Amino acid sequence: MSAIFDCAVIGAGVMGCSTALFLARGGMKVVLLDRGAVCRQASGVNAGTLTLQMTRAALVPYAMRAFDMWMTTPSWLAGGDVRARTRPGLSVAFTDAEAEMLEQRARIRGEAGAPITLMSGVQAQAIEPGLSPDVKLAGHCPVDGFASSHLTGRAFLAGLRGAVVDVREHTPVSAIDRKAGCWRLATPSGPVLARRVVLAGGVWLGDLAAMLGVRLRIRTLINQLIVTAPMAPVMRSVLGIASGLLSLKQYENGSVLVGGGWQGAGDRHGGALTVKLDNMLGNLRLAAHAIPALRESLVLRAWLGLEAETDDALPAIGPLPRVKDAWMIGSVHSGYTSGPFMGRILAQAMLGETPDLPLFPIDRLVLA
Ligand SMILES: Cc1cc2nc3c(=O)[nH]c(=O)nc-3n(C[C@H](O)[C@H](O)[C@H](O)COP(=O)(O)OP(=O)(O)OC[C@H]3O[C@@H](n4cnc5c(N)ncnc54)[C@H](O)[C@@H]3O)c2cc1C
Repeated sequence: MSAIFDCAVIGAGVMGCSTALFLARGGMKVVLLDRGAVCRQASGVNAGTLTLQMTRAALVPYAMRAFDMWMTTPSWLAGGDVRARTRPGLSVAFTDAEAEMLEQRARIRGEAGAPITLMSGVQAQAIEPGLSPDVKLAGHCPVDGFASSHLTGRAFLAGLRGAVVDVREHTPVSAIDRKAGCWRLATPSGPVLARRVVLAGGVWLGDLAAMLGVRLRIRTLINQLIVTAPMAPVMRSVLGIASGLLSLKQYENGSVLVGGGWQGAGDRHGGALTVKLDNMLGNLRLAAHAIPALRESLVLRAWLGLEAETDDALPAIGPLPRVKDAWMIGSVHSGYTSGPFMGRILAQAMLGETPDLPLFPIDRLVLA
């Protein structure tokens, strides 16, 4: 007779890992399953920016709490570390249209609690000496920084082991059904039984919900990232642009990570993901426009990752409508930034506690 878990979490990205961790700390017996390794999809290949300037206004209070969690990771992850660093955050505008966009976005995010102040290009250059003199306006946020996302899996594994979560890597879930008040998950190594199930499948969230008869539309973004060879210090901020098409940071080893949501080619069904060269060049040109010293950089590598998005760009976090004992978490914009806090509030709700901030009901996303 197989053990019956209190909860099975499907998907070991930052959302599933943090949910599993806080459920286990709340006293539940938890199994966490992933078809690959822990945090090797979006949560392990993202740009690691921990920013309020690119976070949707509605998510700013969540991101601020999560930022504090990332900055103190070893204290709540049993020593696990993602090398989170605080850096001044700048979002810049080169044109009048971008300046207008920046003012509007800074105001809305400011009303939501983000400590963003607007300043001239010259003032921004005092914070970021490498910045182009063509900047007209900048938004400055002291609550900004980055982590090394490739360390996320190792960090969470330390915490999950400490909380005695049963972590099963390389274990795809191919079907879910319910018998005698218990969920039965089909896996290659046999069925897994649990009283509750959490779907935390990233861009595969809609496929998992379909296993429970719920139709959702979850869009897949194919984000490209580029890293340069190590170079002398050229910047010290986390830099973005009002349109959102640029994200730049320089790591301690001198490499600069260039992103901004430029899209590659592929899909979520297992085919190869391919860099779009034009988009790579566009991204690099914009980067060198913002930080002119990057004209001397050498590209080392580019890669892609899959990000999930709902139609209204707000998260799916809460109980699955009309399905007993089934929950969902994902599709969070700037989801790496907010991830650990989102998992904590879902766990609080599942444990019968009042979440620190409200969840995001799923009903609005269900297709007829
Ligand atoms: C290239 C890129 C750059 C980004 N940059 C940033 C950034 O700088 N800052 C920021 O805040 N956010 C960023 N994001 C967004 C952020 O990475 C995601 O929002 C977040 O990591 C999503 O976490 P998740 O746990 O929902 O999904 P994932 O990390 O994708 O985890 C989902 C897991 O579910 C598993 N799974 C799915 N189906 C099954 C199944 N049937 N059986 C078993 N396992 C299954 C998958 O294998 C996967 O491991 C970026 C995203 C990408 C792709």
